[in-house]
Amino acid sequence: MPETAARRAPDASPPKPPWPKIPYPRRTVTKAVARAELALLEGAYPEPKTALHYESPFTLLIAVILSAQCTDARVNLTTPALFAAYPSPAALAGAPLEDVERLVKSCGFFRMKAKNIVAAARAIAERHGDEVPQEREALEALPGVGRKTASVVLSVAFAASAFAVDTHVFRVSRRLGLTLGTTPLAVERDVVKLVPPEKHRHAHHWLILHGRTTCKAPVPLCPSCLVRELCPSAPIVSTAVRTKAASAAKARTVEAKTKVKKTARARATSS
Ligand code: SF4
Repeated sequence: MPETAARRAPDASPPKPPWPKIPYPRRTVTKAVARAELALLEGAYPEPKTALHYESPFTLLIAVILSAQCTDARVNLTTPALFAAYPSPAALAGAPLEDVERLVKSCGFFRMKAKNIVAAARAIAERHGDEVPQEREALEALPGVGRKTASVVLSVAFAASAFAVDTHVFRVSRRLGLTLGTTPLAVERDVVKLVPPEKHRHAHHWLILHGRTTCKAPVPLCPSCLVRELCPSAPIVSTAVRTKAASAAKARTVEAKTKVKKTARARATSS
């Protein structure tokens, strides 16, 4: 247990994070504004690519499964040794689970991920002739593969029209007012209506890259954001940051006054 948690009384409320709470907009922007926002992002990220290193649909699929709750950089450090040892679905299907666990340990949730990638490799080897299937239904039937992973493989490996919603895409789409959706599927359904089908696979990267570089999770960098004039979250963020700073300053004043009073009381008692 972390030290701070251990010291806290069981019924104490959890400490507040040092960043402001930023609510999402309550309304979507108009279609014209949404398209203008997306056009600006397209201009900023004209040839977007996945940050994951891969050489084939199989290596991409495994890298995407490993990237859950893990950074792409960490996955890129992990996969070379994994694919050197097990370069094909058939090879990975016959791998000892403990060896795969050892190889993917640094990616977190390694037992579950090792189990899933070996099982997925086995399904590909046995049911699909050692080739990653190109149909969504078949992909989603593989162990460890959900809609998001299938969408990434379809759009990146097969250049198919698919729009994957991960945590960055979900957050940035909502902040931009493209959607009020509260699930990845609802966000996907709203955003794909705003982008022509041939650009669905790129829109995922526009939003993910913007989320990583500028529209960050705890505090977005609105003053340097290229869509700040159109984004309905910019004033919300500004108010939230000001309110948080004011309440932090107030807390510091109260703390300083309390300290002065305590010192004065201690002096009075000792004299
Ligand atoms: S203006 Fe702020 S909230 Fe809106 S997209 Fe840019 S960084 Fe995100």
